[in-house]
Amino acid sequence: MSQLQVGRITIRWLYDNDFHLDGGAMFGVVPRILWRRRYPADEQNFIPLCARPLLVTTPDARVLIETGLGNRLTDKQRRNFGVRGPSGLEASLAQAGLTRDDIDIVILTHLDFDHCSGNVLAGEDGRLEPAFPRARYLVQRRELEDALSPNIRSVNTYWADNLRPVLDRGLFETVDGEVQVVPGIRLVLTGGHTRGHQVVLMESEGETVLHMADLQPTHAHDNPLWVMAYDNYPLDSVHQKQMWLERARSRGWWVTFYHDPFVLAGRWNEAGELVERIDGHRAAELAG
Ligand SMILES: [Zn+2]
Repeated sequence: MSQLQVGRITIRWLYDNDFHLDGGAMFGVVPRILWRRRYPADEQNFIPLCARPLLVTTPDARVLIETGLGNRLTDKQRRNFGVRGPSGLEASLAQAGLTRDDIDIVILTHLDFDHCSGNVLAGEDGRLEPAFPRARYLVQRRELEDALSPNIRSVNTYWADNLRPVLDRGLFETVDGEVQVVPGIRLVLTGGHTRGHQVVLMESEGETVLHMADLQPTHAHDNPLWVMAYDNYPLDSVHQKQMWLERARSRGWWVTFYHDPFVLAGRWNEAGELVERIDGHRAAELAG
């Protein structure tokens, strides 16, 4: 299991699933001829992606960042998104010696289905229930409000079934702006991809890891101008990304990617060169 130790914090990459999306949608206005030099695509222009939630262990808490695609997709959804198999989240938690009951805090960077469909599972009687019954589910207030009253566009990615069972059990805890979750873990509202999108900062003993979520879905999105067509507020994405990448590069932070099966995390120098990386499960294909 890939992991990164920063001071007293351990970050482990869990595995939920592999899937794909259209490369044009993922790279927005960037011409295909440019992004294809940086990222592979198949003959239908789909690009390989994954959902890799992070298990973050601090002296105070066991934290899960994102919950993946879950196990409740329809056959049609699985086909459309090229989902590879059943969710591996529970099995990879088991590899770390944990069960769903051991998670104290679930951090959701935003509420699009590919980040939070593992929030909920179907119980024995078929009723939906929170998958992490002992956890507080942390999300920006603005994001939860938007997700509970989606518009004509966002209704395609904000799914009520991922939210209602958690809401009904009183497990959502909303935050506003910037907040410390436990010592060493901070959430910061960025907007951009969605109005209530947030990033996660993990800091211990002088080292920092930045979970960019959909502000930077893959290592190839390292240019602030390379933002997804899915972003609802693209100029906010550009400005936020520019600011965070500048900080990460000048201070030597690790940056983690939820959707990248080739590079799980990277460290860039001030010239914008990738100088250190943690390989993902498909890293060999990128090298080839
Ligand atoms: Zn996403």
